[in-house]
Amino acid sequence: MSDDVILLSHGAGGQLMAELIDAVFVRGFDNPVLRAREDSGVIELAGKRIALTTDSFVVTPVVFPGGDIGKLAACGTVNDLAAVGAEPVALAASFILEEGLGQSLLRRCVASLRAAADEADVRVITGDTKVVPRGSADELFVTTTGLGLVPEGVRISAANARPGDVVLINGGIAEHGMAVLCAREGMDFDLDIGSDCAPLNRLVAALITAGCDLHALRDPTRGGVAAALNEIAQQSGVCIELREEALPIAPAVRTACELLGLDPLQVANEGKMLVILPEPQAERALAAMRAAPYGAGAAVIGRVLEGPAGRVQLRTTVGPARIIDRPVGEPMPRIC
Ligand code: MG
Repeated sequence: MSDDVILLSHGAGGQLMAELIDAVFVRGFDNPVLRAREDSGVIELAGKRIALTTDSFVVTPVVFPGGDIGKLAACGTVNDLAAVGAEPVALAASFILEEGLGQSLLRRCVASLRAAADEADVRVITGDTKVVPRGSADELFVTTTGLGLVPEGVRISAANARPGDVVLINGGIAEHGMAVLCAREGMDFDLDIGSDCAPLNRLVAALITAGCDLHALRDPTRGGVAAALNEIAQQSGVCIELREEALPIAPAVRTACELLGLDPLQVANEGKMLVILPEPQAERALAAMRAAPYGAGAAVIGRVLEGPAGRVQLRTTVGPARIIDRPVGEPMPRIC
């Protein structure tokens, strides 16, 4: 493998992407906020804590069961704000359009982005449009930037998971990745899988309102639950143990993963939030999540242990715990 060209794996949310981000971007732009590696950068401004995040979306196909690139662009950005506890304040949306793109498809995606932003109670207040020659992009790429406000007293960080905490998730895993993969040409499994793509700011707000002492949150997108929990385990210097029988996985998703040889823990979600907080608050958090939008399937899926630091492991009903690594290669390019 050459060390000087970009591979698809560098965008997969796994080990190679983490190395590229560290070596090129964190080092290149070096500052304490970026070094914290949160889903949004948080700064103090005029006595307020402001969150800023940006994401580019290159999913193919542009329209998939359960959503399209516009809905994904709004939800992905709102959820990265929510992962630091921030309420969205405003969005920016930039479009790179390929010459020849049908305007009806563009209008559909803009309407979807608008609808998801409305649901999250946030507006797109600025944007940009570029058109590139046929072949220089694939239909359309969208970049969304989100500005948010962190409520007073909320200090959520991927470095704050502590032994004695539990790990919760708001429902079934691997649905977005499998919906997109099954929608691709040549994948005509007769499985009814829709993306879980959804804005989760109200779910997180419900946890904060319920008085939960949220330690760490992360939306497990590219690289799935495996990548997100490995990041938290490393940044917090703890071990995270999942219970296999507690993982919510829809039967159709499980079947699709088996057919394609994929581990559902490594498959992308776009409407899920991992929630880590002290064990005595688990019931309160479950009740708050189940009463909130997109929280009906909330479950406790694991716990935080002191060590081995930086490790994620899966406890099965039989045998020893299995180590859950981040994905290294690229089973699913252009999933979001
Ligand atoms: Mg994220």
